[in-house]
Amino acid sequence: MNTESRKPGQDLPFSVAPYRFDQKNEMFKRALWDEKMRPHAMRFYKEVKFKEKIGYRKIDYAFRNAAWNIEWSAAFGNARSNSGLYEWEGINERIKQYVESGEPVKMPPEKMGSYIKKAARYFGADLVGICRVHPNWIYSHEYNALSRKHYPAELPKGINNAVVLAVAMDYQGIQLSPTTLEGGITGFGYSMMAVVANLLATFIRGLGYRAIPCGNDTALSVPLAMAAGLGETGRLGILITEKFGPRVRLCKIFTDLPLSCDTYRPFGVKAFCEECKKCATYCPGQAITDSEMTEEGHNISNQSGTLKWYVNAEKCFAFWAKNRSDCANCIRVCPFNKPQGIIHDMTRGIIRRTTLFNRFLLWMDDFFGYEKPIHPEKFWN
Ligand code: SF4
Ligand code: SF4
Repeated sequence: MNTESRKPGQDLPFSVAPYRFDQKNEMFKRALWDEKMRPHAMRFYKEVKFKEKIGYRKIDYAFRNAAWNIEWSAAFGNARSNSGLYEWEGINERIKQYVESGEPVKMPPEKMGSYIKKAARYFGADLVGICRVHPNWIYSHEYNALSRKHYPAELPKGINNAVVLAVAMDYQGIQLSPTTLEGGITGFGYSMMAVVANLLATFIRGLGYRAIPCGNDTALSVPLAMAAGLGETGRLGILITEKFGPRVRLCKIFTDLPLSCDTYRPFGVKAFCEECKKCATYCPGQAITDSEMTEEGHNISNQSGTLKWYVNAEKCFAFWAKNRSDCANCIRVCPFNKPQGIIHDMTRGIIRRTTLFNRFLLWMDDFFGYEKPIHPEKFWN
């Protein structure tokens, strides 16, 4: 991709950081090389400590680990790019003759976009959007968690479009946070990301075009998802979608397939976050700010330079280490995290149209106790 052809922020309805993020500085990569994070990394990755307490027993960890297994054993999207189910050019021998025969499929970009979205949904995506790729969303460098090598990251020339996919996580499952059972819900999301991205990339290759499926590797998923019309960011730092709130996992496929793009579609998140600070209140690591937005992140794990709420990933990871499992309290308590239903759909519609009722809606959210976790016993029984 030609990184010189567009200036950061050019023709986008939201600002773009003025530099490319080095994946080496992402917290899970820092856990591998940064002495400061080593004690937390040792506790989180190496120390197995079952408890009597439900949600942290051997059986609970067995569930979590099984749910992650496609990502950990076959996809490797959290470890490195271009491997396993996220391989950039893999074509199965069984279908090679179909891929290589005939001319690339041609149709108007809009129609092609609708075919791509249909296939993505069928393969398991809950939300699909399409955008042009901004160069500053691609990592400047990749940090390979398996080889511990650090090298420049670049998409091949001519790959300018991204199909961004969101896989929703189970509503009740997220309410199990911060037990390790919730880690299983997240892990299942990661495993499904790999399956969906792989199948859709194979479909695009079958049309005669290049397709680069990615998990968390290669590029920042959140701004891609925003540009593809999937949602907005909020105080908790991740994507908030209108339909599922922040309860989604993201993956993407970069491609040279000509496609018409979606547009950024904010729906009132920022204004709501100004009033609501539930994620900051319920964050056990005090990693989320209850203050104003800034342009400066907390540390090297933030990509500074745009006005937003930055999450302190060092504090977040310190809690994960103490918990010996991940956490999704911020997702659990977010008022945008609601199941489908007439009342919740109506509320989403109100927030999209006006800020007038935000305080009242927040009061209602507190009144009904939506932020409360469910007991893990309920999950198993
Ligand atoms: S995952 Fe948990 S510790 Fe991390 S920011 Fe969210 S609530 Fe805080
Ligand atoms: S919990 Fe409240 S403040 Fe935090 S992201 Fe959700 S709406 Fe915004």
